[in-house]
Amino acid sequence: MVRLAEVMRQHETLSFEVFPPKTDVGMEKLPKVLEELCKFKPEYISCTYGAGGTNVGKNREVLQMVKQAGTIPVTHFTLIKNTREGIKDQLQQYLDEGVDHILALRGDIPRGETTTCGDFDYATDLVAFIRKEFGDQFEIAVAGSPEGHIACRSLDSDIAVLKQKQDNGADYIMTQLCWDMEQFDRWLDKIHKAGITMPIDVGIMPILDQAATINMALSRNGCVMERELSRLISKYWIFPNPFDKEPFDDALEQKKADFRKAGIEYTIKQIDKYRALGVHGIHLYALNKSEAVSEIIEGCGLHTLV
Ligand code: FAD
Repeated sequence: MVRLAEVMRQHETLSFEVFPPKTDVGMEKLPKVLEELCKFKPEYISCTYGAGGTNVGKNREVLQMVKQAGTIPVTHFTLIKNTREGIKDQLQQYLDEGVDHILALRGDIPRGETTTCGDFDYATDLVAFIRKEFGDQFEIAVAGSPEGHIACRSLDSDIAVLKQKQDNGADYIMTQLCWDMEQFDRWLDKIHKAGITMPIDVGIMPILDQAATINMALSRNGCVMERELSRLISKYWIFPNPFDKEPFDDALEQKKADFRKAGIEYTIKQIDKYRALGVHGIHLYALNKSEAVSEIIEGCGLHTLV
């Protein structure tokens, strides 16, 4: 098995995240998108997992497509509504299908509930369980939140949890979105002081669409929108608001195009800043589209990693 954490320690890596399309048409189009993405020789492509196992079948199908496209599939996996036995069965199924890289997550607590509705409470438990049941058969990534997870008691307590994930056997970190570079730098310093040595793969969402950007930052994660990004959103604001199904903005199409262009430039600058801080990998949310991703990769010279 290729140990991605080892690869990240040797050189900077590029990887992508995709999600299982909702429609059959989306599923049919995905192999072509993956083929395009693989032209950039990503170290791996990860696929999201619907909390509560809502899209497990499609997640497994997508992972096979990733393999076919010629790179390592990494599956996201959550504890939500999963029992010990259920987790064991699903993980064995992944192994049987040649998927041995996993991002071990708790998942978001289902609306109206106060617990995971499963046998475990936290991602730390999942990491320990995987190591106990499967030894070294999986390489395990875990989530890290540079601004602190939205529900954590404090940044320090969240970092203690991250250290626990490492102690329980996790191999590397995939980060939550963070546009606040000063905070990211502080977090790096703090986790190193806490004895966390796992390589850091930075999660980056291309800024292409106002509603998606605001939604991603605020619907769950509580990410700070730093000034330059807020200004971009204001500058190209779609009236009455970017979520409106029938916007009455006369310049709608122009604004969308201008925002996309400015967003790509912004994303490129963010990647430059992360790389200057010495992160181990750039993990781009490809959003199941290859065009914007290619513009970003070429714009920031990541294709020269190949
Ligand atoms: P944990 O690490 O368990 O932390 C959850 C909260 O509990 C934190 O506030 C933490 O500080 C606290 N905590 C942890 N352990 C303890 C403890 N022992 N005692 C007290 N408090 C504790 N979700 C999906 O549903 N599907 C996906 O595919 C998906 N992909 C993601 C990919 C990335 C890169 C990231 C960063 C997140 C992803 N998520 C996904 C979202 C993720 O499931 C949520 O952010 C979830 O709310 C937290 O998951 P976690 O693994 O960080 O949880």
